[in-house]
Amino acid sequence: MNHVSHLECSATGERHEAGEVHGLSRAGWPLLVRYDLDRLANAVTRESLVSAPVAGFWRWAPLLPVARERDRISLGEVTTPLVTLVRSVGETPTNVMVKDEGRLPTGSFKARGLALAVSMARQLGLHHLAIPTNGNAGAALAAYAGRAGMKSTVLCPADTPDINLREIRQHGADVWKVDGLINDCGRIVGEGARTAGWFDVSTLKEPYRIEGKKTMGLELAWQMDWSLPDVIFYPTGGGTGLIGMWKAFQELRQLGWIAGGLPRMVAVQATGCAPIVRAFEAGSTHAVPWQDAHTVAAGIRVPVAIGDFLILDAIRASGGFAMAVDDESILQERDRVAMQDGLLLAPEEAATVAAWRRALETGLVGDDERVVLFNCASGLKYPMAPVNQELDITQDIDFTRFA
Ligand SMILES: *Cc1c(COP(=O)(O)O)cnc(C)c1O
Repeated sequence: MNHVSHLECSATGERHEAGEVHGLSRAGWPLLVRYDLDRLANAVTRESLVSAPVAGFWRWAPLLPVARERDRISLGEVTTPLVTLVRSVGETPTNVMVKDEGRLPTGSFKARGLALAVSMARQLGLHHLAIPTNGNAGAALAAYAGRAGMKSTVLCPADTPDINLREIRQHGADVWKVDGLINDCGRIVGEGARTAGWFDVSTLKEPYRIEGKKTMGLELAWQMDWSLPDVIFYPTGGGTGLIGMWKAFQELRQLGWIAGGLPRMVAVQATGCAPIVRAFEAGSTHAVPWQDAHTVAAGIRVPVAIGDFLILDAIRASGGFAMAVDDESILQERDRVAMQDGLLLAPEEAATVAAWRRALETGLVGDDERVVLFNCASGLKYPMAPVNQELDITQDIDFTRFA
């Protein structure tokens, strides 16, 4: 059972029929799924959804597009916890929580989007999916497509961390290193979709990954007792998560399921690749592609985002802002949170801690506000400093050497 009414072009509002294979809209923009929310409100209540004996985000199935239960591809997705930062936030009393998405299958929140995209691909009878990726999306596609018995082709920038490449290959995808950035990979996937029969599951170039990411917003509302945080800091690459959560909040508000205001949405990028921050500051509707993109935070090294205008809309409509932080402060925060709060953040998410701290110092965020930072992947997927202290068991141990 689902409540999809149609799909809508995010730029022109043009209506597209549900139940057909869709990529971008006829005008070439991302498509958004629309629901009959009145009918949905008569069919289910928020209490019925959260008390259902269904694990993880599939409990939100009535707010998702997968019609038949047998098309759901599931790897045991969990409801990810909100973990309060205690020591790393310093003296000021604060209410800063990390939503730890690293606990999802394949170690990142890309599982949410790809679980939905692959389930819809099964519903629509597709067999061969292809994706450009900085690593995490490729791993999630490979795992879910493999489980669904579909082929996956994955193109990564050549400098993608080895652990990501191996994970993708281990799940049986046809994985290739490309001597370019993610947008170069995306161009090849687009050509393959036109000439080799691939279905392109690039960020926002099909309508369903965003519906999967939307579940972060639904889950957050439930976890916070149906009253949303004051501010959300989101590490922004293609922006699916930020746009998806903003869409979730609109739907929840229309359903009358949340009390109070909506959060200020903050897009966090790295100073080496900050097209959205630059466009926000310039007051532009679209972002100009970033040249020579570089940052340790691979997941947000995205020089061009097709949904740039949707990201910028959500930030502005929510009264939020966009902020870039440098690699040095990213790595500093990763160390601090790992050592003082026991959470191993991915660099992208350490960026949100750095941005929050700067926003607190400059008064953009108050110390009494409820803040949620997104940790989108397990820190275990990223290179860490080597250990080179050694003990020789044939010698007496010199205990003065220990710290
Ligand atoms: C993909 C990714 C992001 C960026 O997410 P978008 O929704 O595409 O902007 C951030 N962090 C990590 C770890 C990622 O894998």
